Amino acid sequence: MRIITHTCPACGTVVAANELEDNRVMKCPGLGCQEVLRFVDIPEGARDHFLENRNRYQI
Ligand SMILES: [Zn+2]
Repeated sequence: MRIITHTCPACGTVVAANELEDNRVMKCPGLGCQEVLRFVDIPEGARDHFLENRNRYQI
């Protein structure tokens, strides 16, 4: 299974797409990082793949 993640451009923290999808917008979990991460920041192809297969990404 392909893992869809988003990497914070500010600190490099990797966030799973399902976490972002739940929140749509979230503050970066990186220590001391104030970057705001958005689901729409995930490249479109990866986002589409995630949405098409979202059932398999449920924990
Ligand atoms: Zn960050």
